[in-house]
Amino acid sequence: MRPKLFAANWKMNLLPDSASALAGGLKSELGSDPAFAAGERQVVIAPPAILIPAVAQALAGSAIRLGAQNMYCEDQGAYTGEISPPMLTAYGVQFVIVGHSERRHIFGETDQLINRKLKAALRHNLQPILCLGETLEDRQAGRTTEVLVGQLTEGLSGLPPADLEHITLAYEPVWAIGTGHNATPEQAQAEHSALRGALIEFANRDLAHAVRILYGGSVTPDNVDSLIAKPDIDGALVGGASLKLDSFVRIARARS
Ligand code: PEP
Repeated sequence: MRPKLFAANWKMNLLPDSASALAGGLKSELGSDPAFAAGERQVVIAPPAILIPAVAQALAGSAIRLGAQNMYCEDQGAYTGEISPPMLTAYGVQFVIVGHSERRHIFGETDQLINRKLKAALRHNLQPILCLGETLEDRQAGRTTEVLVGQLTEGLSGLPPADLEHITLAYEPVWAIGTGHNATPEQAQAEHSALRGALIEFANRDLAHAVRILYGGSVTPDNVDSLIAKPDIDGALVGGASLKLDSFVRIARARS
């Protein structure tokens, strides 16, 4: 039984006051929900790094977990502008998004760098959410599964299979992110199932079946129920709709 996970990626949005207000709203809406208190469902909020202290304060005492959108793979040193894993854990961050398509495509992150970040996260007891996704061109060329399995294999390279216990995957088609065109539940389920098959090859059936695979890409209150009704869709990574309190609360309460 994999507890459903709903992760909010606020991207480069909000300011201290609006971030604290949104986090405070989530705490009061979801904080008293028995499913979240009992750990049957989890919510992770990933604010911009500079807003993490304010959001940590607003969420204090709730079951909502703190995430980061990115980090560098070294612990300290001459890496101007970067944030290290120990800096994140010092503020109570428990999850980190690694390899988001905006990091890959706008900032040129390679599978090799993503692999180093994943290992650094695990070294510091941060749970990585490893993002994988094909472009529209890949999909139209019939390369979707090949691209995803390639990103997964490179991302996990050199890790002991037992580390899967601490990793979450997010299937995020590049053509679905921020476009209003989500993958259909059938399209997403097909890729999630292929990814789980690749995890079985990497590790074994038990470890692979314990890994949560989130879907991300234009998730809204209107499409979330049908997506998470699929057997291999274990929650959602949400961008735009996570910036509105009502939308994200409805998504986190999706019917499965
Ligand atoms: C994302 O940024 O991970 C994402 C899925 O964005 P959106 O929900 O806006 O498509």
